[in-house]
Amino acid sequence: MKVLVINCGSSSLKYQVLDMTNEVLMCKGLVERIGMDGSVITHEKIGQDKFKLETPMKDHKDAIGIVLDAIQDPDHGVVKDMSEIGAVGHRVVHAGEKFAYSVLITDEVIKALEECIDLAPLHNPPNLLGIAACQDLMPNTPMVGVFDTAFHQTMPPESYIYAIPYEYYEKHGIRRYGFHGTSHKYVAERASDILNVNLDDLKIITCHLGNGASVSAIKRGKCIDTSMGFTPLEGLVMGTRSGDIDPAIVTYIREKENLEQGEANEILNKKSGVLGISGVSSDFRDLEAAAEEGNERAQLALKVFAHKVRFYIGAYIAEMNGVDAIVFTAGVGENDIGMRDIICNDLGNLGIKLDLVKNKVRGKETIISRDDSRVKILLIPTNEELMIARDTFNIVKEL
Ligand code: AMP
Repeated sequence: MKVLVINCGSSSLKYQVLDMTNEVLMCKGLVERIGMDGSVITHEKIGQDKFKLETPMKDHKDAIGIVLDAIQDPDHGVVKDMSEIGAVGHRVVHAGEKFAYSVLITDEVIKALEECIDLAPLHNPPNLLGIAACQDLMPNTPMVGVFDTAFHQTMPPESYIYAIPYEYYEKHGIRRYGFHGTSHKYVAERASDILNVNLDDLKIITCHLGNGASVSAIKRGKCIDTSMGFTPLEGLVMGTRSGDIDPAIVTYIREKENLEQGEANEILNKKSGVLGISGVSSDFRDLEAAAEEGNERAQLALKVFAHKVRFYIGAYIAEMNGVDAIVFTAGVGENDIGMRDIICNDLGNLGIKLDLVKNKVRGKETIISRDDSRVKILLIPTNEELMIARDTFNIVKEL
C-alpha cells in the first residue's frame, strides 16, 4: 500500500509518499506561501532532481490539489492515479486527552479535534483544513490522524498535573501534554532495534533538540515524563522559546515594559531562547561561529542550553531509577558535534561516557558512546513521516 503523509501548517504544507510494502520513500515536497502571493511547490521524486513550480494557491484545498497533481505527474510523479494511494496520514498537533493513539478519522474524531482548537490555536486549525481538503479531493480514501501529544498520554498524573488550583485542570484542561511525541516514539523504537533489546527492558531518555526542543523519559516503551507542557513553551531552552522560567517574570516584565498579553507571548515564543540570550541567532551554526570568534553572549547561550538538557537528563535518571540509553535527534541533536560533547561531558559517575571520536558524525544512525559506557548514547535521525505512514498503514490494513 502507498501512503500519502500530510503535515499542514498555516501557510505551508509538507508531504511524502511512502510505499509501505518495504517502507520506501517515493517522493516528498513542500508547498509554501499558501493563500499569499508567490505560492510555490517544491517536489522531489527520489532519485531525480527537485522541481519548483510557482502557481496561485488561494487555500489549502488548492494546495492539496497541486500536491495530488505532482504525485500523479507523468515525469515527476510516483503513481498513475490516486486509486494507488491506499490511505492518507495526517499529522495533527493536539489531541488533548482524547486520543492516546493514532486513529481513523471519522466525523466524531474531527469534532474531538475541533474541541482541542483552544489548546493549539495556531496548529490544529491548519491541520484540520488539510484533512478537510483531502476529504474533499479523495472522498473514498481512508484518512488517519497521528497526534504529537498521543505518545505522552501515558504520563502519570504526578508528571502532568500543575500545582495550581485543580479546578483549572477540570474546567480548562490545563495540564502538561507534551509534544514531539511521534519523534520521541520513533527514536525510542529505533534505539530498541539498534541495541537489540526489547523496549520493555529499556529505560531511555530521548533528546529531540531542534529549533523546538524537548526531552522525554521512556520506561518500558511508555513515556513517563516529557519537558514540554501545556504548550511547547515549557522545558528546555530552545531556538527562540524561553523554556522554563519563573512564571512571576511574565507579570513583572509586562508591568515594567508596558506589554500587552500578546506581546509577552511573542517575546517568550519568538524572541527568547538562545536567540534572546545571545542577540545573535536562533541557529546553532551561527551561535557556534560567533562563540568561536569570542562573542561571550553566544558562548553563554550555548552553555545555558546545554545546562538545561543536562538538568532534564539528571531529573529523568532519578525518575526512572537509572537509564540504559540516551538518544540525540533533530537538527541540533543529529548535527551538532560540539553540543553533544558539552551535554555529555563529565557524566562518567552516572555511567554516561561519550566517545569523542565516534561522536564526530552528523545525521547518521550510530552509537556514539565508549565501549565501556554503561549507558549507550545513540544518534538517531528522526523520521516522523515514516512513523505517521506506519501508523496509517497499520490502521488501514485492518479495515
Ligand atoms: P529542526 O528544528 O530539527 O529542523 O532543527 C533546526 C536547527 O538545527 C537549526 O536551527 C540549527 O540550529 C540546527 N542545526 C542544523 N544543522 C546543524 C549543524 N550542522 N550544526 C549545528 N546545528 C545545526
